[in-house]
Amino acid sequence: MQRVLLSWLVVGTYISTLKSEIKRVRVVRRADGYYVQFCINVERTEESIPTGKATGIDVGLNHFYTDSNGETVPNPRYLRKSEKALKRAQKRVSRKKKGSSNRKKAINKLGRKHLKVSRQRKDFAIKTALCVVKSNDFVAYEDLQVKNMVKNHKLAKSISDAAWNQFAQWLQYFGKVYGKIVIAVAPQYTSQDCSVCGNRVKKSLSIRTHICGCGAVLDRDHNAALNILALGLKQAGITLNTVGHTEINAWGQNDLYSLVVTSTSKSTD
Ligand SMILES: [Zn+2]
Repeated sequence: MQRVLLSWLVVGTYISTLKSEIKRVRVVRRADGYYVQFCINVERTEESIPTGKATGIDVGLNHFYTDSNGETVPNPRYLRKSEKALKRAQKRVSRKKKGSSNRKKAINKLGRKHLKVSRQRKDFAIKTALCVVKSNDFVAYEDLQVKNMVKNHKLAKSISDAAWNQFAQWLQYFGKVYGKIVIAVAPQYTSQDCSVCGNRVKKSLSIRTHICGCGAVLDRDHNAALNILALGLKQAGITLNTVGHTEINAWGQNDLYSLVVTSTSKSTD
């Protein structure tokens, strides 16, 4: 508790100079020490240059996400490494005798590994979401809570779920900060429907390419991302005959910009 008191003293000087309204103060215990959290009431807005771009995002196990331009962002290697280390630490705990001091030590080590992974994951989610929001005016992604209703108990899957949910939260947050439109769409049939003609092409998870009778052949996740973008635009009240990057640019940067402006002015009412 001494450490807590010390940080209270240090932080106390900051509070006296900080004019913002402090909503809540919490003391949090983590595996590597105590933290004092201050919840302050500050409105954060950042200037941003309109890009005239819209994107749809499909999250998956093969890549962290695939966008409607067919670009992919891989799952970071360092995260997989840390996750492996986490598993090893878990095993070490179970090998130690219950109640022994060695077990306590192993438990603390495991806790620190957990912290490391969750901090790395958070850092990755923040950086990736910020990049997406800054380089687009309109972002559509799948409503992951609905997607997660289909439960899968595999570790890899649950880790990804956690990362995606965090990513979605940061997308929403940065959307507000930068005045961009960020929309969550229902994930129904986004991977089955053809993004070109709209026909439903049923396929199992192992089929990685979308092949349709209309002649459309593209990566399964790219097809899903295009559907997600189309659904998002529809939800926002924008209708296009065909959906794609070039069409949106042709449709007009100014239009998309004014759309962003109206939506933000509405949200601040
Ligand atoms: Zn088709």
